[in-house]
Amino acid sequence: QFAEEHGKEIIFYHPRLRDQVIEKMDLQNSIIKALEQQAIQEIGKQFEIYYQPIIHMEEAGEDEPGSLFIKGQGRWKIADIGAEALIRWHHPEKGTIAPDRFIPIAEETGLIIPIGNWIIYSVAEQIREWLDRGLAMSAVSVNLSTRQFHSDTLTHTVRTAMKNNRLTSDIFRFEITESALAQNPDQMIRTMWELHDEGVYFYIDDFGTGYSSLSYVHQMPIKRIKIDKSFVLNLGSEKREKVIIRTIIAMARELGFGLVAEGVEEMDHLAYLLGYGVRSFQGFFFARPMKAEDFAEFISDPAHFNKIEDLFN
Ligand code: C2E
Ligand code: MG
Ligand code: MG
Ligand code: MG
Repeated sequence: QFAEEHGKEIIFYHPRLRDQVIEKMDLQNSIIKALEQQAIQEIGKQFEIYYQPIIHMEEAGEDEPGSLFIKGQGRWKIADIGAEALIRWHHPEKGTIAPDRFIPIAEETGLIIPIGNWIIYSVAEQIREWLDRGLAMSAVSVNLSTRQFHSDTLTHTVRTAMKNNRLTSDIFRFEITESALAQNPDQMIRTMWELHDEGVYFYIDDFGTGYSSLSYVHQMPIKRIKIDKSFVLNLGSEKREKVIIRTIIAMARELGFGLVAEGVEEMDHLAYLLGYGVRSFQGFFFARPMKAEDFAEFISDPAHFNKIEDLFN
């Protein structure tokens, strides 16, 4: 409540606020310690990659089996399923820690480099394993943070991971947030094309929350724009969100980018977005992020294609 500035130091007088600050510092310290103690080959013991389905839909015929009637939009079915890779940290004492809490710290300390490289190798191997098992799937995307982008090991890691696992640009993608793009666009564009030479396209993540300039967005090897979930989640109530979403959709169409809508939690979100031409969706309405084996089951279960209604109940 009452903070007074003494030079650069801020002193908190409110005890609850002080406790919150101490708790946050405590968590940070323990995260830094645990991250540092983990040798790179140890990472896999505490970190786990979850996969959240990205659902690509297409129009269905009148009585097509496995199709669903969506109010105002006619009949639809699932064409294809991809995924976003999302990291989870199972901390031995603190339980599962969400990425929003430790990724920023890993970025600050530089530990995002070994962790990020581990993620790229692991996802690439996982995709290869799924392909070898004959699973029909579309692209899997991996989040990249700015710090990784500026590391000189990234291109090597990507090249090795793609080559060793014989992956193509159709199946392996990166996500980079709109706000990260704006930080140093010239260098970003160079690195993106360098990575594109290794066979990857990019998705722009959390679109609508950053400050990207159209003058450089169109110079990048971008496949899709991901509409930030904050707009989708508020579709029901806020008129402003609808305007923003429609503007993003129109812009993506003009520039020739595909779209994914994040944060689709309700049938109404899906119906609205379908009405404006969005065909790819990610959200709790379809599926939450899940363990690799559950994802394999999710996409290989023909019930999800044939009895699509199951998904909506
Ligand atoms: P993101 O890349 O925008 O990922 C989407 C987030 O939205 C995920 O949170 C996902 O669980 C959540 N989400 C998906 N559908 C819904 C929905 O319908 N409703 C709601 N309320 N949320 C939904 P998660 O897994 O906690 O990840 C948070 C953020 O942490 C990610 O946001 C990404 O920025 C970062 N992150 C996660 N994994 C990695 C990683 O491997 N590397 C890096 N650099 N960052 C990562
Ligand atoms: Mg993402
Ligand atoms: Mg996002
Ligand atoms: Mg995010």
